[in-house]
Amino acid sequence: MTLGGAALLAMAGCAREPEWDVAVVGAGVAGLSAARNLVDHGFRVIVLEARDRVGGQLYTDHSFSSVPVELGAGLLHGADVSTWELVEEARVRTVPVRSDEEGTTPIALSVPPRDDESVASYLRRLGVPQDDWPPVAVDNEPAERWSATWMYRNGVFDWWSAPRQDFRVVGGYDQLLSPLADGLHIELNSPVRRIRLVGSSAPEVELTVSGRGRDRRVRARRCVVALPIGVLRGGAVAFDPVLPADHREALGALRATDVLKLHYEFDRPVFPEDRHILGGEDEGPVFWCVSRDPEIVVVWTAGDRARELLALPDDERFGAGLKALGEAVGEKVPDPVRRTTHDWSSDEFSRGAYLYVPPGAHDAPAALAFPVRRTLFFAGEAVTGENTVDGAYDSGYVVTDDLRADL
Ligand SMILES: Cc1cc2nc3c(=O)[nH]c(=O)nc-3n(C[C@H](O)[C@H](O)[C@H](O)COP(=O)(O)OP(=O)(O)OC[C@H]3O[C@@H](n4cnc5c(N)ncnc54)[C@H](O)[C@@H]3O)c2cc1C
Repeated sequence: MTLGGAALLAMAGCAREPEWDVAVVGAGVAGLSAARNLVDHGFRVIVLEARDRVGGQLYTDHSFSSVPVELGAGLLHGADVSTWELVEEARVRTVPVRSDEEGTTPIALSVPPRDDESVASYLRRLGVPQDDWPPVAVDNEPAERWSATWMYRNGVFDWWSAPRQDFRVVGGYDQLLSPLADGLHIELNSPVRRIRLVGSSAPEVELTVSGRGRDRRVRARRCVVALPIGVLRGGAVAFDPVLPADHREALGALRATDVLKLHYEFDRPVFPEDRHILGGEDEGPVFWCVSRDPEIVVVWTAGDRARELLALPDDERFGAGLKALGEAVGEKVPDPVRRTTHDWSSDEFSRGAYLYVPPGAHDAPAALAFPVRRTLFFAGEAVTGENTVDGAYDSGYVVTDDLRADL
């Protein structure tokens, strides 16, 4: 009987070295910044992305109209967020929008919240009038569903009340992805189905990747999992062995919010000339004008209201948005010449929009930030508890600075 070379090597205890130092799962902003940092430090990195594009929840549609529309993230939240680096590198122009320059009355947080308390019950206990509560429900789940401890510890109450100015990237937010993705080895249409830790003393990872008509294996010395919370919770990616109890508990505690962003193009102006944003009262929809020529308007809802609309067939969903827009502008609006949206909740590679931290889940992001056997690292919203592009961008760097330390 003769033995093949691979079998002989394995018997001699010197199995082939993995082709990659690090496999990054997910090419959203967190996965891309993780890979960027590693490649810039000379490591061999493969990025596996399920979709046919990079960017994840940063998703610019250039085909809808003569101006791009943002089906996912649309804004840089503030003049000092880290992603301005990318604005400079990509040499793009931004415009200020939706100004909250005034800020709101700061909330005097005289005592800390209890661990399992929601933002709503905490603020009621402090006697804060509801008008002064952070308006989380405008683009997220309402105050009843948020952890007060998480907001308190992370300065989110102050963030909401501080003056702020948001910015939009002219020509598409996705232009910021170019400097991140430039020169990376990214395999699109490559959903990862299984992440296996192999070996005991110095484990490696073996990923099962489907797509392209077959399953294949990818081996690497380390793995960065940069998946959205909805996907991690949904179990579409199996971990072998199962994740440690703390990680599983943390994933069970965090949640993805539901949001809906409907875009309409009209053949005549419908939005008041002197306004670029309307609505947002009583957790109702928000409306803003993306472009005046052509006239493109967005109808936005979050939480329960978004879920109600997401449950409707397409035509009814767009019809309900149009009706609400008519009520906001004070007259019936014409039928749009075109319309578009993206349903993040039924998107199998997102399974919900961005993350929120429910009562009692304040320690979950830190639990997930703890690498499994210094081999499996998590990045993105799940480890930061943040739900912004800049949060994802920072997270990729933080996680890989740690990972590099002993690679
Ligand atoms: C409608 C909407 C509006 C938003 N507005 C803003 C805003 O104005 N400003 C702001 O800063 N943030 C905003 N956000 C939030 C922001 O977009 C996200 O917080 C951020 O982009 C998350 O980045 P990420 O890399 O952590 O995750 P994601 O962007 O979700 O990336 C994860 C990647 O993993 C991939 N993936 C999933 N499953 C697999 C698999 N099995 N194998 C391989 N790959 C897989 C996905 O396809 C995706 O590319 C918005 C989000 C949405 C949905």
